[in-house]
Amino acid sequence: MSFPIQKTDAQWHAVLQEKGAEPGAYQVTRHAATERPYTGKYEQHWADGSYHCICCGSKLFNADTKFDAGCGWPSFSQAIPGAIREIVDHSHGMSRTETVCAQCGAHLGHVFEDGPRPTGLRYCMNSASLDFSSDAS
Ligand SMILES: [Zn+2]
Repeated sequence: MSFPIQKTDAQWHAVLQEKGAEPGAYQVTRHAATERPYTGKYEQHWADGSYHCICCGSKLFNADTKFDAGCGWPSFSQAIPGAIREIVDHSHGMSRTETVCAQCGAHLGHVFEDGPRPTGLRYCMNSASLDFSSDAS
């Protein structure tokens, strides 16, 4: 699978360092690691604005779609159309739907079908994959 934005591992390291990303951000976004629950800086973060890909800055979610799923990771009921690509993930003996940034392929988390109405979706994201902006655009 290819994505419009391509960088080497060394370049991604440099980008994340420059942005002051969380220490686990490289492992999460480029190697599909999962941060420990209840540790991410955005897990209980409820300001107005928007959430962007930590790697490339693409807008992924509006803050008004964020909800408290009680699972320990930032959760959203709706993604910005076209911002996220879904990949069925059969690792760990489960069938889950992985979500990645449509622009750069960064691993974001998974999407489950047990979210609130009207979408019924729960985008369970790693805080380390996200970059908050108080600007909604
Ligand atoms: Zn991205």
